[in-house]
Amino acid sequence: MRKCGKCGGRLRRTHRTFKQRFSYMAIYRCRECKNIEFVPRRYQLHFGAACRCPKCGTFRVVRLKERDRIDPLHTGFLNLLEKLAGGKLHHCRWCRLQFYDRRRLASEIAAAAPPVAKPAATTPTDEAKSDA
Ligand SMILES: [Zn+2]
Ligand SMILES: [Zn+2]
Repeated sequence: MRKCGKCGGRLRRTHRTFKQRFSYMAIYRCRECKNIEFVPRRYQLHFGAACRCPKCGTFRVVRLKERDRIDPLHTGFLNLLEKLAGGKLHHCRWCRLQFYDRRRLASEIAAAAPPVAKPAATTPTDEAKSDA
């Protein structure tokens, strides 16, 4: 039984519209506070502002200058679309997976955003180095 993220009440699975079926595995509604929770489908990882691994969803990916000969390249229709749309080659160090993505890295977005009063959670310094 899933619980409401707001009030801890019991969630009830609700009917999805035709359009929502494409985006969500399930949609739950809280009986108590009417809060709605969405369970996104996996390909939703391709949406959003920052580049992330299509397999594990981490934001800690690096951009590659050229294709790595050892690690596999993500095979998938969406990956192909990303490449055709001008996506750059990225690499997930956890999955050892290469993939194409058009979006900026989360560290780049954080760097572009106005400074927030909190210590940096990511360390982009090791990713900025190139071995060219
Ligand atoms: Zn609730
Ligand atoms: Zn990954």
